[in-house]
Amino acid sequence: MSSSPVHTAAHTGAHDPNCIFCKIVARNIPSRIVYEDDEIFAFHDINPWAPVHFLVIPKFHIASMAQVGPEHASVLGRIMALIPQLAREQGCRPYPEGGFRMIANTGADGGQEVPHLHFHVMGGPRPWARG
Ligand code: AMP
Ligand code: ZN
Repeated sequence: MSSSPVHTAAHTGAHDPNCIFCKIVARNIPSRIVYEDDEIFAFHDINPWAPVHFLVIPKFHIASMAQVGPEHASVLGRIMALIPQLAREQGCRPYPEGGFRMIANTGADGGQEVPHLHFHVMGGPRPWARG
């Protein structure tokens, strides 16, 4: 097993006390919660681009997709399998007329602003504010 901090965090469920999304998971910063279980948290984006716009994150701190390795396959698979259900529940219209957009901005070139891995899920009738 790797001893890098990111991998350690994945295995211990550690959080970063300076991370805004870790603070949201810990309820130190309020959010409008969409979903929560033992390893996944989802909440509405504070600055929505679309009628439906929420973020899905692993509860443990990992900075981005760039740090993902095989040890994260289980939780990432669970997140992928959960997103269609949450999208429907939050009001995304049925595929193919409806659907949703899923984005994981990664690093500066990828347009990432918050360094805790998150999947944007956006949907609802167009036009959208952005995207
Ligand atoms: P990204 O550019 O992919 O890192 O996106 C970060 C997203 O987090 C943006 O869409 C922000 O609107 C959103 N965001 C930042 N702070 C909060 C917060 N306290 N609650 C909910 N969403 C937030
Ligand atoms: Zn974090």
